Amino acid sequence: MIECFENRVQTNRDPFVIGIYFGNQKPNNLDFLQDFVNEVRLLERDGVLYQGTAISVALSAVVCDAPARAFIRSSKGHTGFFSCHKCQQKGVTYQGRMTFPESDAPARSPARLDSETFDELNDDQHFNGFSPFTLLSVGMVTQFPHDYMHVVCLGVVRKLLYFWMRKPLHTRIGTAVIKEVSAELLKYHSYLPTEFNRKPRALSDFERWKATELRSFLLYTGPACLKGRVPTSIYDNFILLSVAMTILLSVNLVENKADYAHSLLMAFVNHCSKLYGREYIGYNMHALLHLSEETKKYGVLDNISCFPFENFLGQLKKMIRKPNKPLEQVIRRLSERQLKSNVYLRMESNLTMEHVSGPVPPELSVVRQFRRMTVQTFIIQVSTSNSCVELSGGKIVVVENIIVDNTGEAYVVFRAFQKVCSLYQYPLPSSEVGIYHLSALTSQLHYTLAANIKRKYVLLPIKDGFAGLPMLHQ
Ligand SMILES: [Zn+2]
Repeated sequence: MIECFENRVQTNRDPFVIGIYFGNQKPNNLDFLQDFVNEVRLLERDGVLYQGTAISVALSAVVCDAPARAFIRSSKGHTGFFSCHKCQQKGVTYQGRMTFPESDAPARSPARLDSETFDELNDDQHFNGFSPFTLLSVGMVTQFPHDYMHVVCLGVVRKLLYFWMRKPLHTRIGTAVIKEVSAELLKYHSYLPTEFNRKPRALSDFERWKATELRSFLLYTGPACLKGRVPTSIYDNFILLSVAMTILLSVNLVENKADYAHSLLMAFVNHCSKLYGREYIGYNMHALLHLSEETKKYGVLDNISCFPFENFLGQLKKMIRKPNKPLEQVIRRLSERQLKSNVYLRMESNLTMEHVSGPVPPELSVVRQFRRMTVQTFIIQVSTSNSCVELSGGKIVVVENIIVDNTGEAYVVFRAFQKVCSLYQYPLPSSEVGIYHLSALTSQLHYTLAANIKRKYVLLPIKDGFAGLPMLHQ
């Protein structure tokens, strides 16, 4: 487990190591947290002195999967009757599974040591015993948010694929559809932007899909490749989840539409119960009903997701090349990497891949041309998969060239889509969340300041044009 201190307004989301432990099995007690808790108590009291300025330090959130959360909070595991750490619902055993059929159980109070609700920590239906986190100024309910990587991607999305491919029998989509959808997914290989580190695999491989692949399917490829291929009831149910997550991951939507996203997730869980069976409304399905609440405290769900930590853990694992002295190997590799990254940062440039081949609008006094630029956290490149962006004002365009003029200003030369409509209409016209069916790319070239690029789009080929979906993950 890696903990990371972060400011609420997150400027640096890269995890860094503050402690690594190893052993032959998972720890069976919480002794390993003692050093961490002691240090945080000191930091909470004294803060840190940085270049003569006193900076206060507070733990923002503890992000982990359900078993780890239950372990470090000393609370019931996710198969327990009172396992939900956000509400007081008692689970119901149905067909041999623990289910959570209610959607409006009373919330748990924040439960922290210095609050009036300390009594809740004595709730032995939920807590098993003492957690060292109760010694800190941390809300045992509010500051242990649900993580959408585990709950949604690895939990609910994988479960939906299971419903379509395995059982129940009445919701299986059939071999011909599986082949057709898989062919579409494989076709998207050359269309997914550089920021996607895994290309789509066939549906038949779904049990081996990683969390990032399940996220891509939920937010980008699924809405495009399932449309018109699976029964409407299945598609509409999937889109409820897809739209809700699009909202909760969009910086520009989350503030005003979080309550709407919650209503979509309520409808999704309700439909799942009817479509697939109430025995499947387990811990992860229930946790969906608490997600929009997290965004009111933390902003978009990416601010509290395990994705950066899982990615970093993967990098740490690759640093171990032989079985003996694993910790020494990791520390050595981390030190080497720190040196390299400092060199890299000095060499990094915003504009790269210089060329002289145009196209160039006659009105611009061109000094230099480039094929690639970095904007905010994403890469724009004159290529099939990295050139679609939204400009300020909402126009969706394809970048054809990047130009610097004689005043040093950077411009993008682009072509725009003339036909822009919603990709789907249920539960709302998808254009309201920035998802479009795009066609008729104009032949005429236009240009605008590169500073007018608002965000990058994923462009996937579909019947009569393209599906255009805003890139949400960071
Ligand atoms: Zn709950």
